[in-house]
Amino acid sequence: MPSTKKPSEKKSTKRPASVPVFQSVKGMSDVLPKEEGWWKAFHEAGMRTAELHDFHLIETPILEPADLFEKGVGASTDIVEKQMYTFRTKGGDRVALRPEGTASVMRAYLEHHLGYFASPLKVFYEGPMFRYERPQAGRERQFHQWGFEVIGDGDPVYDAEVILATMALFKELKSGPLVVKINSIGCKVCRASYREKLKNYYRAREKKLCKDCTRRLEKNPFRLMDCEEEDCKALREEAPIILDYLCQSCNTHFKSVLELVEENGIPYEPDPYLVRGLDYYNRTVFEVWSPSAGSALAGGGRYDYLAEILMGRLVPAVGAAIGIERAISFLKGAMPTPPRKEPVRVFFAAVGDQAKKASLRRMEELRRAGVPVVEALGKRSLKGQLKVADRLKVPLALILGQKEVFEGSVIVRDMVTGAQETALLDRFVEVVKKRLR
Ligand SMILES: [Zn+2]
Ligand SMILES: [Zn+2]
Repeated sequence: MPSTKKPSEKKSTKRPASVPVFQSVKGMSDVLPKEEGWWKAFHEAGMRTAELHDFHLIETPILEPADLFEKGVGASTDIVEKQMYTFRTKGGDRVALRPEGTASVMRAYLEHHLGYFASPLKVFYEGPMFRYERPQAGRERQFHQWGFEVIGDGDPVYDAEVILATMALFKELKSGPLVVKINSIGCKVCRASYREKLKNYYRAREKKLCKDCTRRLEKNPFRLMDCEEEDCKALREEAPIILDYLCQSCNTHFKSVLELVEENGIPYEPDPYLVRGLDYYNRTVFEVWSPSAGSALAGGGRYDYLAEILMGRLVPAVGAAIGIERAISFLKGAMPTPPRKEPVRVFFAAVGDQAKKASLRRMEELRRAGVPVVEALGKRSLKGQLKVADRLKVPLALILGQKEVFEGSVIVRDMVTGAQETALLDRFVEVVKKRLR
């Protein structure tokens, strides 16, 4: 019920004890202005890479039908089993906050028949994902991903293209050396026989497995390969590896991908234990690793069965996703400032009512000429305003006072030397541009 009390006339700056302090939801953080440089650097590197590689924007809703992920990502995966934010709307629909981007992109592809417009369709996305898990360093409940997807073609050239684009994005960010860990997990045919071999191997050693692995063994034996428990890791050493069981056509596909990756000078390492925890993957799976950080910054693979699982259609596809927070925190460890040049800004100061009135229009003139302008017009005195200019370390300040308005001029002050000149307002933009060159 809305309060019937009238708001009190007197404004108090004190917060009454009964008013709660709001904080962001646990595991979900704010991206603050002080982080701007890093986020902009990532975003621009992504946009630039997408443009150069011909990937186009797709943006899907944050809420999707819950069963899109239950079916697509897989009911026995950690993501769906433990980490999804699922709820019913007032209308009774079961929806989920998206835990990843690929299932949504495929849903959009099928819903809008995007295959008719481009074959293959090459898209990128950028946005928040949600997974309910124990928040810890580098693992938030809301995090952001950048993704590349190529939908509608099974050719190994697209597996390589997705890996190339992902690596190009990191190169654009001057990330330093990264390595692609890569594996093939086969197709329906060859994976099934490998699955049996793997199950038999682990069944015979079930007593040594951890609790999680014992539970996963029947439903999803591949997951046993990336268990971090010491006993399970030791057992893995002797376990059969899929490369020995790939069918002819999967084998040829994998070889082609490796050849293309190698030919393009991408450092890679075959990793027979890499399986990725999502059900929709087949054939190529990969992760982009930072040897210095010892962790994966991106991951992806082929998902030829996803469209079939969702709508019974055969649409081969491949994609990758980069964890943006993780990439940024890795970059921060590798370099002191974001790998991005900030444009040079000028400061605009105005003193007196007339000058203040005129200043907005004058600032717009500069902006229209491509010069970013900052101000502190809320401060009355020139001294106060120039103090801000000093703090911002701008090279130039423009000062408009009563006298200047009257004369149709403006003072151009060099903030380093303190030297000043007067320019006519008619041509002050040219003067500024010349000085910034
Ligand atoms: Zn196969
Ligand atoms: Zn285990």
